[in-house]
Amino acid sequence: MAKILIVLYPDPVTGYPPDYARDSIPVIKEYPGGVALPSPKAIDFVPGHLLGSVSGNLGLKDWLETEGHTVVVTDDKEGPDSVFERELPDADVVISQPFWPAYLTAERIARAEKLQLVITAGIGSDHTDLNAANARGITVAEVTYSNSIGVAEHTVMQVLVLVRDFVKQHQIAVDGGWNIADAVERSYDLEGMRVGVFAAGRIGRAVIERLAPFGVRLSYTDRFRLPAEYEEKYGLTFHESIEELVKEIDVLTVHAPLTDETRGLLNDELLATMTRGAYIVNPARGAIADRDAIVRALESGRLAGYAGDVWDPQPAPADHPWRTMPHNAMTTHTSGTSLSGQARYAAGTREILENWFEGAPIRPEYLIVEGGAYQGTGAHSYAKQPVHADEQQAS
Ligand code: NDP
Repeated sequence: MAKILIVLYPDPVTGYPPDYARDSIPVIKEYPGGVALPSPKAIDFVPGHLLGSVSGNLGLKDWLETEGHTVVVTDDKEGPDSVFERELPDADVVISQPFWPAYLTAERIARAEKLQLVITAGIGSDHTDLNAANARGITVAEVTYSNSIGVAEHTVMQVLVLVRDFVKQHQIAVDGGWNIADAVERSYDLEGMRVGVFAAGRIGRAVIERLAPFGVRLSYTDRFRLPAEYEEKYGLTFHESIEELVKEIDVLTVHAPLTDETRGLLNDELLATMTRGAYIVNPARGAIADRDAIVRALESGRLAGYAGDVWDPQPAPADHPWRTMPHNAMTTHTSGTSLSGQARYAAGTREILENWFEGAPIRPEYLIVEGGAYQGTGAHSYAKQPVHADEQQAS
């Protein structure tokens, strides 16, 4: 029997919801490109209910305990006296979400002597030291595709929020005002703008497909070029590098994983080459941007706006400058954890656990590292020498 340590964000301050705004969520039959949805043998939750917080426990606690496992669910993850630190040394499995990540550093992995499986309930496993996991032969898996479309929707929303300057306009309405001139002094139409997508993976491509009908001019960069027919369909211009891309655009959206190559990429030097008054929306990882360089670019007017929902670290401290910098439309890391997304990654987490308990293979698209090496999605996204994903064909 295993000990499963589940780190989740706290329940709402008003308590676990007794009811919901909607009675159900739409049934999605498959992901784009025909990729199969999570297929656990059963689920112990109602799709559309809050699952990502402690009381929701990803719908796993009752099932795991019935199976005889020991389950610890906590939101207390920081500091030497936290529940996470105390329970880690004899945990076999650690589960957390990128929105409230249980940072598994090399030092923590060294102390977690029994640890065999780390699951990211969601997408993006950079909160686990993957080299240390490889060195120990720990399996790391995530629920690929579970919230990609939700993040793409959030991206499109934030592009519009910035370009049209929604935040200020809404505040004027809330405050009882009607000063149109104040409301529109920084408001533009997105139509006709040049939008550049950094990394055209699952989310990047979903953003391209959703922004195309706005009549924008689309371009992108990625390590591998998309098929010619896809580029043609969406009128995409390819650039060899992000340096080339950012010189030619008004709006940049960021969808690369956080790796040694992408950490700190949006720095003073790069921002200085962007068109004055450009916008950035980064729902990928906060550390891809140099925190203070973004603040400087907004203050100088180089950037007209910055949005996204990812920070470094998470949760961000109350005095993080991105909370108060000018012309930001930041959200706390929510794009991938809508109630709809939670239902999919909770089901995917259960599928991974079922496979692991049975000794059955975990789907390659969920695998990041296994058996001491990058595998599946991990071989594609995180390895130093990326493997081209044959399955990653444009829809
Ligand atoms: P994918 O693996 O489908 O796409 C990532 C893309 O990034 C791939 O096309 C890959 O290129 C490209 N890439 C990787 N490194 C580089 C680089 N150095 N330069 C250029 N391109 C690069 O991932 P997803 O689209 O599903 O997710 C992307 C990221 O978004 C995740 O890693 C995660 O950090 C973040 N995310 C955020 C969420 C949120 O809630 N805000 C939720 C889900 C994900 P290629 O394939 O050509 O090798």
